[in-house]
Amino acid sequence: MRMSEMHMKTLREVPNEAEIASHILLLRSGMMKKLVSGVYGFMPLGWRTIRKIEDIIRQEMDATGAQEIHCSALQPAELWEESGRWSKYGPELMRLKDRNGRDFCLGPTHEEIFTDIIRNDITSYRQLPQNLYQIQTKYRDEARPRFGLMRSREFIMKDNYSFDRDEAGLDVSYKKMYDAYSKIFTRCGLTFRPVEADTGAIGGSNSHEFTALSEVGESEIAYCDNCDMAATTERAEFRDAPEVNEEMLPMEEVNTPGTKTIEEVASFLNLPKDRTIKALMFVKYNDEMTEQTGYVAAFIRGDRELNMIKLVNALGIPEHAIEFADEEKMGPATGIVGGFTGPVGLHDCTIVVDSELVGQKNMCAGANKKDYHLKNVNYGRDYKGDIVKDIKLLREGDPCPVCGQPTKVARGIEVGQVFKLGTKYSEPMGAYYKDENQQDRLIVMGCYGIGVTRTMAAVVEQHHDENGIIWPMSVAPYHVIVTLVSAADEQQKAVAEDIYGRLQAAGVEVLLDDRDERPGVKFKDADLLGIPVRITVGRGVANGVVEYKLRREADKTEKTPDEAVNDAIALVNAERRG
Ligand SMILES: [Zn+2]
Repeated sequence: MRMSEMHMKTLREVPNEAEIASHILLLRSGMMKKLVSGVYGFMPLGWRTIRKIEDIIRQEMDATGAQEIHCSALQPAELWEESGRWSKYGPELMRLKDRNGRDFCLGPTHEEIFTDIIRNDITSYRQLPQNLYQIQTKYRDEARPRFGLMRSREFIMKDNYSFDRDEAGLDVSYKKMYDAYSKIFTRCGLTFRPVEADTGAIGGSNSHEFTALSEVGESEIAYCDNCDMAATTERAEFRDAPEVNEEMLPMEEVNTPGTKTIEEVASFLNLPKDRTIKALMFVKYNDEMTEQTGYVAAFIRGDRELNMIKLVNALGIPEHAIEFADEEKMGPATGIVGGFTGPVGLHDCTIVVDSELVGQKNMCAGANKKDYHLKNVNYGRDYKGDIVKDIKLLREGDPCPVCGQPTKVARGIEVGQVFKLGTKYSEPMGAYYKDENQQDRLIVMGCYGIGVTRTMAAVVEQHHDENGIIWPMSVAPYHVIVTLVSAADEQQKAVAEDIYGRLQAAGVEVLLDDRDERPGVKFKDADLLGIPVRITVGRGVANGVVEYKLRREADKTEKTPDEAVNDAIALVNAERRG
């Protein structure tokens, strides 16, 4: 491609709303353009990278025997009502009506559609297993779209669904997808970790998230260097502190004026934070968020942090159906007193107690009375939980839930997820097959997603420097850029054209920067665009040499045009598959 003819507009300045490298660089390089908040379009170079990521995904999906189809993004509400998700999915579902008032959504995912296809098309065990995938535009009405492609309202996803006769079949399908995902992200040049994940709104029994490690990622993962434990912190189990062997002392009310936080009360009473109980108050709603369904008071040890996902899972409600309570309103209804809430003597609310508190003795908690706390509060004797479960967040340094060694915590970008759904969709939607004995059996499902546009952003996060993107060869929009320093110099032009033609003939994807621009602009753009190999044709041609530079390395070398062409072809062929 001749850059003099290419549709491209790079930006010199950093767009205001862009905070992270991928967002900044994809906009600055002109690879994508913002239409409205959280909605982007892709220009020629950006689109080529997306198609390369898609091709890697297609090759690895096809290699597992999965078959590509293409469904509509527009989905009728009836199917979502059958699965129960029309109300449960919450405000992120992009809903719309047609001219006759019929409800639709723009799909954020396609479980219902694929289940519908299979229940209509599959009748016999002989037709299973099946695995269908698509690469498609999806929608999620994010409250706060941000970080460019990380959290956008429109995004490209590969999603696929496996259909098996039984759990054993699902295990095989799941393992195939897990292995294919590892190959895909490796080929895209990502450093990633597969970690155990929460199953969230989609539900099911088993899930892994593929997390590209990055400081700017919104996922937090916990892992252990001593054993195999690796999970999202949302999901990671917690090894409760050992039971305390102390005699229960008589409960005692103490005046603690103005001590509203755990820090303040612990310091006022000269107690370690792990001898205190922290209270967190919430209000629950029905799935549609149209009415309140009750208050929740959650209690954890004062030195711990609440894990919202574990809490909503313990309550059996979707994540969107809970929010922090207005303590002024909750007080008269339940007996709590803002800043002085404890578990003793509450009424008319669901009390959720972290499992660890059961074994702790003589704790300090709010007295539900302004400026007072209670000392020597003990589970069983003084209070009880309606629900007792692990609801706390695993932090760096906490004991690994598997081996007890200190846990490590890192941030990352969720680029893919694999789920065992089981019969979560086939049961409500009636997806059956007939077994060898003509008995109806539920089809057992798995679902698997890769964020294509998010993968592109993750690659940029892991491969860039202060001057621009450094694409891995496998997903680079072009492999080589030939920079013609002076388009007016006939000798330079002839050599550049020759290199350009020979590389193209060898199947290398090559850009020729033949624009009438200053050399400085061309070099800056080449760095910004991140093309892996740059061959600069300048004054050196008078001495028979060109400059050869890899974007990922600082060094430049002089080579003859022949050497440069041959080295570029060899490198591209070695790395293009990823
Ligand atoms: Zn461990």
